[in-house]
Amino acid sequence: MYAKVIVDISHEKLDKGFDYRIPAHLENEIYPGVLVNIPFGKGNRIIQGYVTSLSETAGYEADKIKEIDSIVKNSIPIEGRLISLAWFIKENYGSAMNQALKTVIPIKETKKSVYTKRVILVDDIVSVDDAIEKYERKHATARLKLLYALKENKEMDWSLVGKLGVSLSVAKALENEGLVEIKEEAVYRNPIKYTDLKPYDIKLNKEQEKISKSIFTYIENKSQGFGGVHLIHGITGSGKTEVYIDIIDKVIKKGKEIIVLIPEIALTYQTVMRFYRKFGDKVSIINSKLSAGERFDQFERAKNGDIKIMIGPRSAIFTPFRNLGLIIIDEEHEGTYKSETAPRYHAREAAIFRAQNEGAAVILGSATPAVDSYYKALTGEYNLYELKNRAKTSIPADVHVVDMRQELAKGNRTMFSDKLDQLIKDRLEKKQQIMLFINRRGYAGFVSCRECGKAMKCPHCDVGLTLHNNNKLICHYCGYEVAMPKNCPECNSKYIAAFGTGTQKVEEAVKKMYPTARTLRMDMDTTNKKDGYEKILSQFSNGEADVLIGTQMIVKGHDFPNVTLVGIIAADLSLYASDYRSSEKTFQLLTQAEGRAGRGKLRGEAVIQTYSPENGSIIAASKQDYTEFYNQEILYRTISEYPPVVSLMAIQLTSKDEKFLDKLSIMVKQMIGKSGVDTKELRIIGPANANVSRINDVYRKVIYIKCKEYKKLIWVKDYIENYFEKMEENKKASIQFDFNPMSGF
Ligand code: ADP
Ligand code: ZN
Ligand code: ZN
Repeated sequence: MYAKVIVDISHEKLDKGFDYRIPAHLENEIYPGVLVNIPFGKGNRIIQGYVTSLSETAGYEADKIKEIDSIVKNSIPIEGRLISLAWFIKENYGSAMNQALKTVIPIKETKKSVYTKRVILVDDIVSVDDAIEKYERKHATARLKLLYALKENKEMDWSLVGKLGVSLSVAKALENEGLVEIKEEAVYRNPIKYTDLKPYDIKLNKEQEKISKSIFTYIENKSQGFGGVHLIHGITGSGKTEVYIDIIDKVIKKGKEIIVLIPEIALTYQTVMRFYRKFGDKVSIINSKLSAGERFDQFERAKNGDIKIMIGPRSAIFTPFRNLGLIIIDEEHEGTYKSETAPRYHAREAAIFRAQNEGAAVILGSATPAVDSYYKALTGEYNLYELKNRAKTSIPADVHVVDMRQELAKGNRTMFSDKLDQLIKDRLEKKQQIMLFINRRGYAGFVSCRECGKAMKCPHCDVGLTLHNNNKLICHYCGYEVAMPKNCPECNSKYIAAFGTGTQKVEEAVKKMYPTARTLRMDMDTTNKKDGYEKILSQFSNGEADVLIGTQMIVKGHDFPNVTLVGIIAADLSLYASDYRSSEKTFQLLTQAEGRAGRGKLRGEAVIQTYSPENGSIIAASKQDYTEFYNQEILYRTISEYPPVVSLMAIQLTSKDEKFLDKLSIMVKQMIGKSGVDTKELRIIGPANANVSRINDVYRKVIYIKCKEYKKLIWVKDYIENYFEKMEENKKASIQFDFNPMSGF
């Protein structure tokens, strides 16, 4: 057996591993993450390095390979733990080890951290007085200036020393004589800029208290060898966040550290402040707006123990805390917890692995738990807790479902049903706020010719172009842009136009039908700019608009107490996506959207407009009944064999050469049969064209495999991966695996 060992754990050197032989007596003790002593270089000096992977064959001539000397005992440094997390990711999601390592170990920016220097007088006044005498004789004015100043202050910031006109070389000379000490410290960039903090004064109610106690007891006892996985299912506003804060407080008092994952979009000033008010500068955050350097700094602060709580999106799971006690995943059902690029890991699963490995606990929280998580809670893999009431006195919204087919039959050709129209007018009159939600972006859907039916498509991708209000057609996959033609390029007809509904169209309709209404629009186009998102939300929150129109972005995050009406313009759009999770996503979106109405003292109402009012997830969402939704959904997943009832692996093959790709995909399908897993246990679907069969002139095919056992899918993956690597023509194509994908390839 051989091991790859890295000696320098900086991001840039991660792929510079060295091969070592594992001596027989150590074979059972060496695995990725273990710190070992190895002979290194010409002199075979013994140094330390981390094992990153194991293999049965060596990278080069076996007789030249040195042997691992020994294991560094009694230490599993945090680096080692992160390496074993990388190994878990590599094994379970299909990626190269280097890629997994680079995901886990943060990038150190080449620009160094900011340092501050202090000059300190060494504690020996006698020798200082001697020195002063000596320098007076020599007329060494600069040295004297510094020594006199230090005799008075003992310790000075470099900025002050600079003001005396003393150069660094002078200070260094004194340091060499042992008279002073120059201390250099990194100043970590702190991303939280806080002002006026109200004191924290929440006392948990009985329901919350019971959950907090019960979870904490479990964490303390570690009956499963770690703190367990706990799912809190609590309606929006039921006070989950307060429960987290209470448990965090107890965990900190035990000297442990905490990671809090929040979907990026909900990672707002408001949320962070709630933690900050309770825990002050024990808290830090990371998010995608931080530079690599700032991010690195936050991770360093965590490693040094300067902070105890890290809040951030998916990648905060890699925070190098040395004494991790708890990982919280808020809104655990969110799709963003799954990485969309390789390695396609799911933060929930990575968190559970890390917790098990480091003796920590995991808390998942959601108003609409992922079907996967609820399934595991019901089967006893997770512990389940319910919060059924809103913490404050507000009551859940009244929900109306409107059948849009009947509206059309009545002759209503506008975007708004009579019910919604009537309620919009009512709220505008009462000066209360309204949110209108549509599940799609852009001015309109696809552009096509009404004479000949030609659809305007991207020349590089297999998707339609979308019309934007600058009169450009844009491809959302590759960014291709072209001016909207006046006439059909096919038949020259002038009846070429956009179909469908989008946020811009809704905004136009609102302006036309309710001319006094002040509107704000939030979608991909208006939030491109830095802070665009926060700006729109704060404008709305300050009452600068009556109506906020947007995509799913508006249903998450902020609380607007003055919003008493939520209109869901077209509830069906997410139902028809070719994805087994589309009902789940629809239910989650609708429930969250409804949750936006009536957060304050005023009672809220929500209107769901739909063409399929008989659809189960729409009915369940209108009643805000998670159990009803779950029961019908799990039945569907059982009958049609979808996760969580089975595991699903997607294999994506891509190539510029269409013919080669056809051949390859058939070959890969045949390989599945040779992998050693009994094909009777597998259900193989495909190969088929991917949802988008071409992006940027690269063709894409997919094969799906279902199996009851996840680990058998991993065997199939390992076999194919291995075969693919050795294949002669593998440069012409690429292969990617995705387990239980959140969306189709
Ligand atoms: P969730 O995270 O479940 O959506 P939050 O924790 O945000 O719910 O709670 C909703 C609101 O109720 C917040 O303003 C919160 O401060 C308040 N709240 C929660 N629990 C209590 C409590 N025990 N006493 C007073 N206010 C509470
Ligand atoms: Zn035409
Ligand atoms: Zn394109």
